[in-house]
Amino acid sequence: MPRYITVTSLLNKTKKRDPWFLDDYTINPYSSCAFNCLYCYIRGSKYGINLAEKLSVKENAIPILRRQLAARAAKHQQGIVVLSSATDPYLPIEEKEMQTRQILELLLEYRFPVHIITKSPLVVRDLDLLHRINENAVLPPEMQLYAHKTFITFSFSTIDPVIGKQFEPGAPAPEERLRALQACANTGFMTGVSLMPLLPFITDRPEQLSRMYAAFKAHGARYVFPASLSLWGEKEADSKPLMLQAIAQYYPQYNTYYQQLFAQQCTVPAAYNDALQATAAHVAATYDLPARIPFK
Ligand code: SF4
Repeated sequence: MPRYITVTSLLNKTKKRDPWFLDDYTINPYSSCAFNCLYCYIRGSKYGINLAEKLSVKENAIPILRRQLAARAAKHQQGIVVLSSATDPYLPIEEKEMQTRQILELLLEYRFPVHIITKSPLVVRDLDLLHRINENAVLPPEMQLYAHKTFITFSFSTIDPVIGKQFEPGAPAPEERLRALQACANTGFMTGVSLMPLLPFITDRPEQLSRMYAAFKAHGARYVFPASLSLWGEKEADSKPLMLQAIAQYYPQYNTYYQQLFAQQCTVPAAYNDALQATAAHVAATYDLPARIPFK
């Protein structure tokens, strides 16, 4: 059973628009996340080892958000809202709670553009609302080159169902995400993929990237954001020990490499990342899948 909590704010203004996600604002309808990915950056002592056990519904979200959106809209401060940055907006609980759907209704009313980032096919339920947002939202002046006002990005670290289960134990299977991507693309949405984290040696080899980009292209993606792995913390609920345990369990042949990669820092070494980005850029050019959302 989820917990119900009250919050004082739902609409977060970002400091700087990210070149991938184009966020002016973020909204997280839930606290914590039932998909429970081992690599998730929200991990830490706040939620414990099983993120699903701390899942909470923000029960006063809608009246708070209405006030915040109305105030911004009155000052013509509509901007791109990312749903979501610290949970998934289409968790299984969303089927009953409909928090995300109610949030979309408010975004439509106050004419805010939206960027959905999800691992769930449940987003297809809301394509009616997303179409209306796409027609009626107001883009910030400097974003007028974009022909779309709704963007739908599916998040993957792999398209292999076995690897998916190992590192994203509560999330929908990659195949389900691919089918949802296709459904969104088929109805005319600007759709793409957030391909992160790519797991060193496990999912970031050139032939694996090529297979993934080919699948994304075949299912209607227009862009792919590739990024490597970052691991945080040393306590048992942090992403670093959880991921290193999983590597030792499922990929003992890479155990030493991982220990070395993350011995000194949270991110992979710069030389490793540069090589990965160069390979990804080459594959992206082959499939015409840029690492930025196209204007149209
Ligand atoms: S779906 Fe996203 S927010 Fe949820 S656990 Fe996975 S990485 Fe974290």
